[in-house]
Amino acid sequence: MSKMALPGIMKSRSLIGPFVLILSLCSCSSPDQSGQFNRKEAIVKKIPAPNFNADSAYQYIKDQVNFGPRIPNTAAHDSCAIYLIKKLNSYNLEVKTQKGELEAYNGTKLNFTNIITSVNPEAKNKIMLCAHWDTRPYADQEPLIKTNSFDGASDGGSGVGVLLEMARLMSKNKPRIGVDLIFFDIEDYGHANVPDSYCLGSQYWAKSPMQKNYYPKYGVLIDMVGAKNATFGMEGYSMQFAPHVVNKVWKIAAKAGFSDHFIFKRTNATIDDHYYVNTIANVPCIDIIQYDPTTKSGFGSYWHTTKDNMDIIDKSTLKAVGQTLLELVYAE
Ligand SMILES: [Zn+2]
Repeated sequence: MSKMALPGIMKSRSLIGPFVLILSLCSCSSPDQSGQFNRKEAIVKKIPAPNFNADSAYQYIKDQVNFGPRIPNTAAHDSCAIYLIKKLNSYNLEVKTQKGELEAYNGTKLNFTNIITSVNPEAKNKIMLCAHWDTRPYADQEPLIKTNSFDGASDGGSGVGVLLEMARLMSKNKPRIGVDLIFFDIEDYGHANVPDSYCLGSQYWAKSPMQKNYYPKYGVLIDMVGAKNATFGMEGYSMQFAPHVVNKVWKIAAKAGFSDHFIFKRTNATIDDHYYVNTIANVPCIDIIQYDPTTKSGFGSYWHTTKDNMDIIDKSTLKAVGQTLLELVYAE
Protein backbone atom coordinates (compact mmCIF):
# COMPACT_ATOMS: atom_id res chain seq x y z
CA MET A 1 0.00 0.00 0.00
CA SER A 2 2.68 2.44 0.99
CA LYS A 3 4.90 1.49 -1.90
CA MET A 4 2.23 2.62 -4.36
CA ALA A 5 1.87 5.94 -2.57
CA LEU A 6 5.57 6.65 -2.86
CA PRO A 7 5.85 8.09 -6.42
CA GLY A 8 3.11 10.70 -5.84
CA ILE A 9 4.63 11.98 -2.65
CA MET A 10 8.13 12.03 -4.07
CA LYS A 11 6.84 14.11 -6.99
CA SER A 12 5.24 16.71 -4.79
CA ARG A 13 8.36 16.88 -2.68
CA SER A 14 10.51 17.67 -5.70
CA LEU A 15 8.23 20.65 -6.36
CA ILE A 16 8.65 21.93 -2.82
CA GLY A 17 12.46 21.58 -2.89
CA PRO A 18 13.35 24.42 -5.30
CA PHE A 19 10.74 26.71 -3.75
CA VAL A 20 12.32 26.38 -0.30
CA LEU A 21 15.76 26.93 -1.79
CA ILE A 22 14.72 30.18 -3.47
CA LEU A 23 13.19 31.46 -0.26
CA SER A 24 16.28 30.72 1.77
CA LEU A 25 18.57 32.40 -0.75
CA CYS A 26 16.42 35.53 -0.76
CA SER A 27 16.33 35.72 3.01
CA CYS A 28 20.09 35.80 3.38
CA SER A 29 20.90 38.29 0.62
CA SER A 30 19.84 41.90 0.87
CA PRO A 31 19.85 44.79 -1.61
CA ASP A 32 22.75 47.24 -1.12
CA GLN A 33 22.42 51.04 -1.66
CA SER A 34 22.40 50.64 -5.43
CA GLY A 35 19.54 48.17 -5.11
CA GLN A 36 21.78 45.25 -6.14
CA PHE A 37 21.70 42.02 -4.18
CA ASN A 38 24.93 41.40 -2.37
CA ARG A 39 25.92 37.95 -3.58
CA LYS A 40 28.58 37.53 -0.91
CA GLU A 41 25.96 37.57 1.80
CA ALA A 42 24.05 34.85 -0.01
CA ILE A 43 26.93 32.42 0.46
CA VAL A 44 26.56 30.74 3.81
CA LYS A 45 29.83 29.73 5.39
CA LYS A 46 30.54 26.03 5.79
CA ILE A 47 31.03 24.82 9.34
CA PRO A 48 33.80 22.22 9.70
CA ALA A 49 32.69 18.87 11.15
CA PRO A 50 33.70 18.34 14.77
CA ASN A 51 36.03 15.54 15.74
CA PHE A 52 34.05 12.40 16.67
CA ASN A 53 35.26 11.12 20.02
CA ALA A 54 35.20 7.30 19.93
CA ASP A 55 36.12 7.05 23.64
CA SER A 56 32.96 8.90 24.46
CA ALA A 57 30.80 6.73 22.15
CA TYR A 58 32.41 3.61 23.64
CA GLN A 59 31.46 4.77 27.15
CA TYR A 60 27.84 5.33 26.07
CA ILE A 61 27.71 1.74 24.82
CA LYS A 62 29.17 0.51 28.12
CA ASP A 63 26.60 2.55 30.04
CA GLN A 64 23.79 0.82 28.14
CA VAL A 65 25.30 -2.64 28.57
CA ASN A 66 25.67 -1.98 32.32
CA PHE A 67 21.89 -1.78 32.65
CA GLY A 68 21.70 -5.38 31.41
CA PRO A 69 19.95 -6.52 28.20
CA ARG A 70 17.39 -3.84 27.23
CA ILE A 71 14.58 -6.32 26.67
CA PRO A 72 11.10 -4.76 26.58
CA ASN A 73 9.09 -5.15 29.84
CA THR A 74 12.23 -5.37 32.00
CA ALA A 75 13.69 -2.95 34.56
CA ALA A 76 16.88 -2.65 32.48
CA HIS A 77 14.81 -1.48 29.52
CA ASP A 78 13.00 1.14 31.63
CA SER A 79 16.26 2.37 33.20
CA CYS A 80 17.93 2.70 29.82
CA ALA A 81 15.05 4.82 28.46
CA ILE A 82 15.49 7.21 31.41
CA TYR A 83 19.26 7.28 30.83
CA LEU A 84 18.85 8.18 27.14
CA ILE A 85 16.38 10.97 27.87
CA LYS A 86 18.57 12.41 30.66
CA LYS A 87 21.66 12.24 28.49
CA LEU A 88 19.98 14.15 25.66
CA ASN A 89 18.55 16.68 28.11
CA SER A 90 22.06 17.22 29.48
CA TYR A 91 23.00 18.48 26.00
CA ASN A 92 20.13 20.99 26.23
CA LEU A 93 18.10 19.03 23.72
CA GLU A 94 14.36 18.81 24.13
CA VAL A 95 13.15 15.22 24.07
CA LYS A 96 9.79 13.93 22.92
CA THR A 97 8.64 10.37 23.41
CA GLN A 98 6.08 8.07 21.89
CA LYS A 99 4.96 5.56 24.49
CA GLY A 100 2.43 2.80 24.60
CA GLU A 101 1.91 -0.89 24.22
CA LEU A 102 2.51 -2.97 21.11
CA GLU A 103 1.65 -6.58 20.52
CA ALA A 104 4.48 -8.92 19.57
CA TYR A 105 4.09 -11.79 17.06
CA ASN A 106 3.49 -14.21 19.99
CA GLY A 107 0.75 -12.10 21.57
CA THR A 108 2.95 -10.60 24.31
CA LYS A 109 2.08 -6.99 25.07
CA LEU A 110 5.25 -4.92 25.09
CA ASN A 111 5.71 -1.46 26.57
CA PHE A 112 7.62 0.75 24.21
CA THR A 113 9.22 4.19 24.14
CA ASN A 114 10.42 5.83 20.94
CA ILE A 115 12.76 8.67 21.90
CA ILE A 116 12.96 11.67 19.60
CA THR A 117 15.06 14.82 19.71
CA SER A 118 16.22 17.49 17.33
CA VAL A 119 19.24 19.71 16.79
CA ASN A 120 18.09 23.01 15.22
CA PRO A 121 14.43 21.97 15.46
CA GLU A 122 13.27 25.17 13.74
CA ALA A 123 15.31 24.52 10.57
CA LYS A 124 13.36 23.96 7.35
CA ASN A 125 16.11 21.86 5.83
CA LYS A 126 16.39 18.64 7.83
CA ILE A 127 17.74 15.15 7.82
CA MET A 128 17.05 12.32 10.27
CA LEU A 129 19.41 9.85 11.92
CA CYS A 130 18.15 6.79 13.73
CA ALA A 131 19.06 3.59 15.59
CA HIS A 132 17.22 1.03 17.71
CA TRP A 133 17.89 0.95 21.44
CA ASP A 134 16.20 -2.31 22.53
CA THR A 135 17.92 -5.70 22.52
CA ARG A 136 16.63 -9.07 21.35
CA PRO A 137 15.13 -11.14 24.18
CA TYR A 138 17.23 -14.25 23.51
CA ALA A 139 20.43 -15.36 21.78
CA ASP A 140 18.67 -17.60 19.28
CA GLN A 141 21.70 -17.82 16.98
CA GLU A 142 23.80 -19.33 19.78
CA PRO A 143 25.01 -22.80 18.72
CA LEU A 144 23.86 -24.56 21.93
CA ILE A 145 21.60 -22.77 24.41
CA LYS A 146 19.36 -20.40 22.51
CA THR A 147 17.36 -19.00 25.41
CA ASN A 148 20.05 -16.95 27.14
CA SER A 149 19.90 -13.18 26.93
CA PHE A 150 22.86 -11.18 25.63
CA ASP A 151 24.37 -7.73 26.09
CA GLY A 152 23.58 -6.29 22.66
CA ALA A 153 26.74 -4.17 22.69
CA SER A 154 26.82 -3.95 18.90
CA ASP A 155 23.20 -4.90 18.09
CA GLY A 156 21.44 -2.01 19.72
CA GLY A 157 24.16 -0.42 21.85
CA SER A 158 26.57 0.72 19.15
CA GLY A 159 24.14 2.71 17.00
CA VAL A 160 22.84 4.49 20.08
CA GLY A 161 26.38 5.19 21.32
CA VAL A 162 27.31 6.81 18.00
CA LEU A 163 24.13 8.91 17.94
CA LEU A 164 24.61 10.09 21.54
CA GLU A 165 28.15 11.26 20.80
CA MET A 166 26.93 13.01 17.64
CA ALA A 167 24.16 14.67 19.66
CA ARG A 168 26.71 15.91 22.22
CA LEU A 169 28.93 17.42 19.50
CA MET A 170 26.11 18.87 17.40
CA SER A 171 24.49 20.55 20.41
CA LYS A 172 27.77 22.35 21.21
CA ASN A 173 28.63 23.27 17.63
CA LYS A 174 25.41 23.50 15.62
CA PRO A 175 25.36 22.39 11.98
CA ARG A 176 23.53 24.52 9.38
CA ILE A 177 20.74 22.03 8.90
CA GLY A 178 18.28 20.50 11.33
CA VAL A 179 19.08 16.97 12.49
CA ASP A 180 16.33 14.86 14.02
CA LEU A 181 17.55 11.92 16.07
CA ILE A 182 15.20 9.00 16.58
CA PHE A 183 15.86 6.12 18.94
CA PHE A 184 13.44 3.36 17.96
CA ASP A 185 12.26 0.82 20.48
CA ILE A 186 11.28 -2.86 19.89
CA GLU A 187 13.21 -3.48 16.70
CA ASP A 188 14.43 -6.89 17.71
CA TYR A 189 11.48 -8.84 19.15
CA GLY A 190 10.43 -10.43 15.86
CA HIS A 191 10.20 -13.90 14.37
CA ALA A 192 11.80 -14.70 11.03
CA ASN A 193 8.64 -16.45 9.74
CA VAL A 194 6.18 -13.73 10.73
CA PRO A 195 6.05 -10.79 8.32
CA ASP A 196 6.44 -7.32 9.87
CA SER A 197 7.09 -8.79 13.32
CA TYR A 198 10.41 -6.93 13.67
CA CYS A 199 10.76 -3.13 13.87
CA LEU A 200 7.55 -2.55 15.85
CA GLY A 201 8.73 0.80 17.23
CA SER A 202 9.64 2.22 13.82
CA GLN A 203 6.42 0.90 12.26
CA TYR A 204 4.47 2.71 14.97
CA TRP A 205 6.52 5.90 14.43
CA ALA A 206 5.99 5.77 10.66
CA LYS A 207 2.23 5.30 11.04
CA SER A 208 1.80 7.89 13.80
CA PRO A 209 3.77 10.98 12.79
CA MET A 210 4.26 13.55 15.56
CA GLN A 211 4.47 16.29 12.95
CA LYS A 212 2.21 16.67 9.92
CA ASN A 213 4.00 16.65 6.56
CA TYR A 214 7.27 15.44 8.04
CA TYR A 215 9.62 15.20 5.10
CA PRO A 216 13.29 15.42 6.00
CA LYS A 217 15.55 15.29 2.93
CA TYR A 218 16.65 11.80 3.86
CA GLY A 219 17.40 9.50 6.76
CA VAL A 220 20.29 7.31 7.85
CA LEU A 221 19.76 4.29 10.11
CA ILE A 222 22.76 2.76 11.87
CA ASP A 223 22.63 -0.78 13.23
CA MET A 224 25.50 -3.02 14.39
CA VAL A 225 28.17 -0.40 13.80
CA GLY A 226 30.55 -1.23 16.65
CA ALA A 227 32.40 -4.48 15.98
CA LYS A 228 36.11 -4.74 15.24
CA ASN A 229 36.90 -4.68 11.50
CA ALA A 230 33.20 -4.38 10.61
CA THR A 231 32.45 -3.70 6.97
CA PHE A 232 29.32 -2.01 5.63
CA GLY A 233 27.93 -2.91 2.23
CA MET A 234 25.51 -0.95 0.06
CA GLU A 235 22.40 -2.67 1.39
CA GLY A 236 19.61 -3.68 -1.01
CA TYR A 237 16.66 -1.60 0.24
CA SER A 238 18.92 1.42 0.73
CA MET A 239 19.94 1.09 -2.93
CA GLN A 240 16.32 0.60 -4.00
CA PHE A 241 14.87 3.59 -2.13
CA ALA A 242 17.75 6.03 -1.68
CA PRO A 243 20.75 5.19 -3.90
CA HIS A 244 21.75 8.88 -4.03
CA VAL A 245 22.14 8.88 -0.23
CA VAL A 246 24.16 5.65 -0.23
CA ASN A 247 26.51 7.04 -2.87
CA LYS A 248 26.89 10.31 -1.00
CA VAL A 249 27.69 8.62 2.34
CA TRP A 250 30.09 6.07 0.84
CA LYS A 251 31.96 8.81 -1.07
CA ILE A 252 32.29 10.87 2.11
CA ALA A 253 33.57 7.80 3.99
CA ALA A 254 36.15 7.14 1.27
CA LYS A 255 37.31 10.76 1.31
CA ALA A 256 37.65 10.64 5.09
CA GLY A 257 39.82 7.50 4.83
CA PHE A 258 37.30 4.87 5.93
CA SER A 259 37.16 2.69 2.79
CA ASP A 260 38.22 -0.33 4.84
CA HIS A 261 34.82 -0.15 6.54
CA PHE A 262 32.53 1.28 3.81
CA ILE A 263 32.89 -1.08 0.89
CA PHE A 264 31.52 -0.34 -2.57
CA LYS A 265 29.58 -3.58 -2.91
CA ARG A 266 25.84 -4.07 -3.15
CA THR A 267 24.62 -6.45 -0.47
CA ASN A 268 21.35 -8.26 0.29
CA ALA A 269 18.24 -6.34 1.27
CA THR A 270 17.54 -6.49 5.01
CA ILE A 271 14.28 -5.74 6.77
CA ASP A 272 15.33 -3.16 9.33
CA ASP A 273 13.78 0.05 10.64
CA HIS A 274 14.71 1.92 7.44
CA TYR A 275 12.38 -0.33 5.42
CA TYR A 276 9.34 1.13 7.23
CA VAL A 277 10.76 4.67 7.22
CA ASN A 278 10.88 4.32 3.42
CA THR A 279 7.64 2.46 2.76
CA ILE A 280 5.32 3.98 5.38
CA ALA A 281 6.77 7.40 6.23
CA ASN A 282 8.00 7.97 2.66
CA VAL A 283 11.35 9.32 3.83
CA PRO A 284 14.24 8.03 1.70
CA CYS A 285 16.37 6.27 4.29
CA ILE A 286 19.47 4.10 4.11
CA ASP A 287 20.83 1.51 6.53
CA ILE A 288 24.47 1.34 7.57
CA ILE A 289 24.59 -2.21 8.86
CA GLN A 290 27.43 -4.66 9.28
CA TYR A 291 27.94 -6.99 6.37
CA ASP A 292 30.10 -10.07 6.83
CA PRO A 293 30.55 -12.24 3.71
CA THR A 294 31.90 -15.14 5.78
CA THR A 295 28.72 -15.87 7.76
CA LYS A 296 25.47 -17.49 6.67
CA SER A 297 23.39 -14.60 7.98
CA GLY A 298 25.60 -11.96 6.34
CA PHE A 299 25.90 -10.19 9.71
CA GLY A 300 28.78 -10.46 12.17
CA SER A 301 29.38 -13.93 13.69
CA TYR A 302 28.36 -12.51 17.11
CA TRP A 303 24.88 -11.61 15.80
CA HIS A 304 22.14 -12.69 18.25
CA THR A 305 24.62 -14.66 20.36
CA THR A 306 26.15 -14.08 23.80
CA LYS A 307 29.33 -12.95 22.01
CA ASP A 308 27.66 -9.61 21.33
CA ASN A 309 29.31 -7.94 24.34
CA MET A 310 31.87 -5.20 24.99
CA ASP A 311 34.76 -7.48 23.93
CA ILE A 312 33.83 -7.13 20.25
CA ILE A 313 33.42 -3.34 20.32
CA ASP A 314 36.20 -1.44 18.62
CA LYS A 315 36.76 2.28 18.78
CA SER A 316 38.13 2.56 15.24
CA THR A 317 34.85 1.21 13.82
CA LEU A 318 32.87 3.69 15.94
CA LYS A 319 35.16 6.47 14.71
CA ALA A 320 34.68 5.49 11.05
CA VAL A 321 30.89 5.59 11.32
CA GLY A 322 30.61 8.62 13.61
CA GLN A 323 33.09 10.78 11.70
CA THR A 324 31.50 9.88 8.35
CA LEU A 325 28.08 10.91 9.61
CA LEU A 326 29.42 14.16 11.08
CA GLU A 327 31.07 14.97 7.74
CA LEU A 328 27.74 14.26 6.05
CA VAL A 329 25.78 16.52 8.42
CA TYR A 330 28.22 19.45 8.31
CA ALA A 331 28.51 19.32 4.51
CA GLU A 332 24.75 19.96 4.21
ZN1 LIG B 1 19.22 -7.81 16.17
